[in-house]
Amino acid sequence: MKINWLLLGGHQTQKRDVIADQGHHQNEVINECYCPNGHSILTDTARFQGHPGLTLKLKNRTSEGLLVISPVLGDRDRIFIDFEKAAGEVVDICCPSCSEPFPVYNVCPCGAHLVALFTSLKAHFSQCIGICQRLGCLHSELLSERDLRLYSRQDYF
Ligand SMILES: [Zn+2]
Ligand SMILES: [Zn+2]
Repeated sequence: MKINWLLLGGHQTQKRDVIADQGHHQNEVINECYCPNGHSILTDTARFQGHPGLTLKLKNRTSEGLLVISPVLGDRDRIFIDFEKAAGEVVDICCPSCSEPFPVYNVCPCGAHLVALFTSLKAHFSQCIGICQRLGCLHSELLSERDLRLYSRQDYF
């Protein structure tokens, strides 16, 4: 399983600007992440390089389990717990505490949806990580407000 941490928005120069704006770099760790109801999804279910992982509940028609993703940007580690995964399947991604599904905010290049994991309690799409609902794609992105504005101009919303 791979995870691609991409910064949205335009060409390479813009990406570097965004990184500079936010002070992000390759080994930055996500230290806050919430469901729409404000539950932190960073838990000790699994740790990556010593950091609590991003814990998600996955649901498909036949089973329910957990996916824990490394919070370290650029680290592609992730583990599935008690989940029978079929590559290419589209699953629901929910909060492990309240089972609320994370909201869809965009369409992934693979055709499934990207859901937003909020990196601030404001639960605003300007501060979120996007994860694809399709197993095996697991495309993910880190959004900034500026990128979101770029998207708005392209009529994604
Ligand atoms: Zn929750
Ligand atoms: Zn996808």
